[in-house]
Amino acid sequence: MTLMKSWVESANSADTPFPLNNLPYGVFTTNSLEPRCGVAIGDMILDMFAAEEAGLIELAEDPVFDVPYWNDVMELGPEAWDVLRARLQELLIEGASEQASVAPLLIPMTDARMEMPLVVAEFTDFYAGKHHATNVGTMFRSAENALPPNWLHIPIGYNGRASSVVVSGTDIIRPNGQTKAPDADMPSFGPSKRLDIELEMGAIVGTASELGHPITVTQADEMIFGYVLLNDWSARDIQPWENQPLGPFQGKVFATSISPWIVTRAALEPFRTLTPPREKELLPYLHEPNPMLYNIDLSVTLQPEGGTATTICETNYNEMYYSAPQQLTHHASSGCPMTPGDLLGSGTISGPEKHQRGSLLEMSWGGKEPFEIGGGQTRSFIEDGDTLTLHGAAKGDGYLIGFGTCVGTIKPAVKFP
Ligand code: CA
Repeated sequence: MTLMKSWVESANSADTPFPLNNLPYGVFTTNSLEPRCGVAIGDMILDMFAAEEAGLIELAEDPVFDVPYWNDVMELGPEAWDVLRARLQELLIEGASEQASVAPLLIPMTDARMEMPLVVAEFTDFYAGKHHATNVGTMFRSAENALPPNWLHIPIGYNGRASSVVVSGTDIIRPNGQTKAPDADMPSFGPSKRLDIELEMGAIVGTASELGHPITVTQADEMIFGYVLLNDWSARDIQPWENQPLGPFQGKVFATSISPWIVTRAALEPFRTLTPPREKELLPYLHEPNPMLYNIDLSVTLQPEGGTATTICETNYNEMYYSAPQQLTHHASSGCPMTPGDLLGSGTISGPEKHQRGSLLEMSWGGKEPFEIGGGQTRSFIEDGDTLTLHGAAKGDGYLIGFGTCVGTIKPAVKFP
C-alpha cells in the first residue's frame, strides 16, 4: 500500500496524519456550526451533516449524520462501514468528478474544536501488556511472582466507568481519595500524591452481541469499528489501598481521555501483526486465526506549566500480549452482551526497555528513581500544571495512518470536605 492521492493538497504530504488512506471519524464544532460528525482529510474536516444533506452521502433510508456522534453509523454494521469508506475515497480522490460539490463542505481544522466522537456505552479496561504487568508485579510483589497465575491464560480486565471518559483537550482535575501509607495507623483523605498516566489504545465496539451468546475471535474482530489513543489516568496511592479484593475503583474512575479521531479497522488493515509467541497455549476460544494486533508507533510527552515538552516514552502497540479481538471475545465468553459504543482499553503498553515504559509508575520505578524532563526538572509522578500528550501513528510506505494526539492538563484538586 502506498499514499492514495487526494485533490485536498494537504492530504498528500508524507507526514500528514490524515491522508486519503486514513479518513478517521470525529465530531467537531466551530463558532458558527453546531457539533456534527466530520471526517479528517489533510488539514481539513469534511462536514458529514452537510454532505448527507446535500445528497453526497446516503448510507440508510433515514439520516445518520443528523446527530453529533458516530453510534448510528456503527449500528449499521461492517458492510455499511465499507460502503461509507469507499464513497468517501471516491469523493476525495484526485480527479474526483464531484470535487466542486464537496470542496465547499470542507472546514479548516484550525477553525474547529473537537468533541467526543461517540457516546461511550460502557468502558472496560484490560491489563494485557506483559511488560507492564511484569514491572508492576515485580514492584508490588516480587520478580518471581510478578504475573498472577491466571495472567497467561486470561486477558484480565475490570468494568470501568463510561461517565468519566472525556475527549482529548479536557482538563483533568487531580482526584481526592482515601490513601494509607504502609507505616501509618489510619488512612487519610486528600489529593492524590501519585497521579499517573497509562498509555493505551482504545478499541470501539461497533455492533452488538447477544445476551447469553459467546462470540469467536473472528466475529469479535468484525465487530470493532475502530481504534483511538486512550489515557487511563490513575492514582497510584488510592489504587493499592482500595483494590483488595475487588480491584480498581476510585483510583481509576475519575477520568479517562481518548483522542478525538476514530481510526477505522479498514485504515489499519495494512499494519496487522501477530501477537507475541504464547508462553502457555491459550484455550481454543482465544486462538487467533490471523494477525489481530497492529504495528502502531506510540509516544508520550510531558510538558510542565510554562516549560517545553519532553518525550518520556516511545513504544509500539505490537508489544501487547493480547489483541482487542481476544479481549472482546473473552468479555462476551460468559454471555455478557456487548453493545455499540462499548470502549475497551488495551491495558498499559510498555515495551521491554526502560524508555518504552507506558506509565510514570514504571518510569520512576514506584517513585524511587525520579527521571529528568529537561530544564533541570525531574518527575516521579504528575504535578499540577503538567500537560501529558499521547501520540500515535502507523507508518506506511510514504504515508502515515495517524491518530493525532490525546492531551490532558492537570488542574489542582477540589478542596474537600
Ligand atoms: Ca489501565
